[in-house]
Amino acid sequence: MDKGVGIAGIAGRMGRLLIEEVANAGARLVGGIDRPGMAVEGVTLFPDIAALAAAADVVLDFTHASAAAGHARAIGAAGTAWVLGTSGLAAADEAAVRQAAEQAAVVYAPNFSAGVNLVLALAERMAAALPAGQYDAEIVEMHHRQKVDAPSGTAIGLGRAVAKGRGVALEAVKESGRDGATGARRTGAIGFAALRGGQVVGEHTLLFAAAAEHIAITHRAFDRRAFASGAVRAALWAQGRPAGLYSMMDVLGLRL
Ligand code: NAD
Repeated sequence: MDKGVGIAGIAGRMGRLLIEEVANAGARLVGGIDRPGMAVEGVTLFPDIAALAAAADVVLDFTHASAAAGHARAIGAAGTAWVLGTSGLAAADEAAVRQAAEQAAVVYAPNFSAGVNLVLALAERMAAALPAGQYDAEIVEMHHRQKVDAPSGTAIGLGRAVAKGRGVALEAVKESGRDGATGARRTGAIGFAALRGGQVVGEHTLLFAAAAEHIAITHRAFDRRAFASGAVRAALWAQGRPAGLYSMMDVLGLRL
């Protein structure tokens, strides 16, 4: 214990914030890895993920989906705790992550902000309490103009939480991107709308609309630091924990 924290993707937007948040948390940074030619002043760069995993108690990983399966194998072999924030993993990558979690503590989450995870937990409870026949669930999200996918991973996560609360599969009730002669809204549908523009880091609203009342819950991220500080919190939580696949809900004690 107490070798410290390593960062994969240390030269990236998240990587640089993570360096600051590791320091803010009073933890020790052992260094990081990035693609060849990338450098960060004053930081030790390791040759590869295996070397970083051997030198650290926990590795924070915000890189690229193409790196995930290789990182999973190295993490599993080393048994080092792993906080994985990279998005866009394919099913095979996620299978490799689950395999790594047999040998190491792995925290894998699409969104490390404490606030979003709290909203996810509330979404499930609200959906369980508000009958689908009366309360129409709609999810509206807005992101910066560079975002290439819609709805966002977090919006889909919100939809899954609502679906789970209602005991249905999201795929069976999802209504996304309405346009033209859509027909009336299906009872029990979970609707999605995506707005794109400017430099919005991430806004999500979950609305339950009934004839007599509306209940809306909104999360706004102003700064990527919300994800970085949550990820460092997850890293300190994961250090020395038994092997297993955990989520940010586990870190925050929000499992229902
Ligand atoms: P970025 O492009 O700014 O940074 C990624 C860094 O990883 C780059 O420096 C890149 O050189 C490096 N990298 C890529 N492949 C690598 C490899 N094989 N080995 C080592 N380093 C490698 O991107 P970003 O905004 O920092 O986001 C990184 C990832 O984290 C993305 O997948 C993003 O969607 C995800 N993300 C997740 C959360 C969350 O809360 N889970 C929050 C923000 C971003």
